Amino acid sequence: MKVHTVCMFCQMANPQGVPDTMWISTEINDTGAYQLRCAQGHDFWLIVQQPRYELLFTIAANALIDGYYREAVLSFAGCLESFYEFFCQVSAFKLGIEAEMFERLWARVMGKRSERQLGAYVIAHLLTLKQPPRMLSQSQEKFRNDVVHSGVIPTKKQAVAYGQEVLETVDESLERLKADAKDALCTAIGEHVKEMNSRVVAGAKSQLMAPGGLSISSTQTARSPGAARPDLATELQYVLHWRKIVGEHIPADFTLKA
Ligand SMILES: [Zn+2]
Repeated sequence: MKVHTVCMFCQMANPQGVPDTMWISTEINDTGAYQLRCAQGHDFWLIVQQPRYELLFTIAANALIDGYYREAVLSFAGCLESFYEFFCQVSAFKLGIEAEMFERLWARVMGKRSERQLGAYVIAHLLTLKQPPRMLSQSQEKFRNDVVHSGVIPTKKQAVAYGQEVLETVDESLERLKADAKDALCTAIGEHVKEMNSRVVAGAKSQLMAPGGLSISSTQTARSPGAARPDLATELQYVLHWRKIVGEHIPADFTLKA
């Protein structure tokens, strides 16, 4: 997957909007910070502000559109596990625990052990929000394990159903955090952006962006009562729209229907 942006200097010179040919694309990586140069020779850094779980969701959505259903399930599963860590971090901030202490303990105790991460998430949810979280159904847990550990190749329908359940699971907890732990949620997002910014060379110009998918901006404001809950079909339409804007290929036979 690629991230796309427009140079801020060119944007300032073209307040009415820059031409399509001025999009800059680069392969997504694990750092969240990208050193770029536009066609006009402007140097700047791009900071992708989405937390890892949102990026993994966006990668999964793109894999679904491209017909890579197994890869989509792997990234949806990664999104959920990354959200467990994000949630626990927000819980820690709500208790006044410093970022460095949380990160050090999480890395030492949780490592890459998904069962431990799930356990920490369930208890953190219970202690922070006074109720247990929504969790994947047993059938979806088994499906995830079959794909991740046994090389099972899922159908599009299975991948879409799994992605929808992951989306609903994350969304429910996020909405509760917005209502009951908004300050801690904002702190977690601020810490993430600070970490990304620390990778920018001192004195260099940088700009923030959030590519398509679950938007980080929406994580700070609770949904109004009665507003539609997010669904995977809508998220896919958003990603499709974005791909059209930046001129990315969309498979001719892709449909939103599973
Ligand atoms: Zn430029």
